[in-house]
Amino acid sequence: MDQYAVFGHPIKQSKSPFIHRLFAEQTQQQLEYGAIEPAEDGFVEAATAFFNNGGKGCNITMPFKLDAYHFATQLTERARMAGAVNTLKVLDDGGILGDNTDGAGLVADLLLNHVALEGKRVLMIGAGGAARGTLLPLLEQNVVMLQIVNRTTSKAQDLVDLFPNHQNIEATTFDALEAAEPFDVIINSTSASMSGELPPIPTSIINQYSSVYDMVYRQEPTVFINWAKQQGAAKGIDGLGMLVAQAAESFAVWRGIRPSMRQVLRELNKNLGRI
Ligand code: NDP
Repeated sequence: MDQYAVFGHPIKQSKSPFIHRLFAEQTQQQLEYGAIEPAEDGFVEAATAFFNNGGKGCNITMPFKLDAYHFATQLTERARMAGAVNTLKVLDDGGILGDNTDGAGLVADLLLNHVALEGKRVLMIGAGGAARGTLLPLLEQNVVMLQIVNRTTSKAQDLVDLFPNHQNIEATTFDALEAAEPFDVIINSTSASMSGELPPIPTSIINQYSSVYDMVYRQEPTVFINWAKQQGAAKGIDGLGMLVAQAAESFAVWRGIRPSMRQVLRELNKNLGRI
């Protein structure tokens, strides 16, 4: 049986084993998917043992995405631009491919929710690892403008500087947003919702055509989604679908077959007590 796993610390709460077991059932793939929690400085040793024992691929979550980036012997373009790896796959020549499926997961979930990106003005709030991983996949959707705003302004500019050949990505500030036109799509990639906080964005950037996305998910709608809905946003979507979609993308990288997200999303929504 082909072996897969997720590496993280802590790993107990990870939904990846549940998601991938459902994907395997659904696509009738013979595989086992476990969860591995190395010591915080023990990723390389644990991953080496996993692949030496015949492991075919793995997901990587906090805090090992940078370790996995360095562990890979080859990187996809999207992993290189993300500066982090959430998917490793053993190659035929024994090398290890490092990929990052987070951005593809976000884009897939937006499109699944009928949020168009092509020709749209997009605001990314936050400039951490999650934001960075999604920029290239968003630009590849031919958005007309991608602005990044972050509490620490210099970090937004650092991300923009990764794309010297793209004219349609720029950094902005919360103050400058006061004078901005409403955005078609507003993505909150900060961890603010985890502590029930709102990033300081003005209400004027939202109108009835705006779709908002919060990468955080909760049993209840996040404070950001509630706030956006109160401002009349057309749609408010949380990050549960992104979680499932990035997993589906990893599964496709490993197995060459793309599972459907619907059944898994339904099960996760049930487990979270949302339906
Ligand atoms: P990082 O720690 O790398 O970055 C955190 C970001 O949030 C920074 O931009 C930080 O700003 C900002 N921030 C934190 N608190 C506040 C606040 N109170 N007000 C304004 N900005 C704030 O984290 P990640 O980028 O890796 O992850 C961000 C979130 O995305 C996490 O909650 C994570 O769970 C979620 N996520 C969800 C995924 C999914 O599949 N649904 C996938 C990946 C991530 P500053 O730079 O100024 O500190």
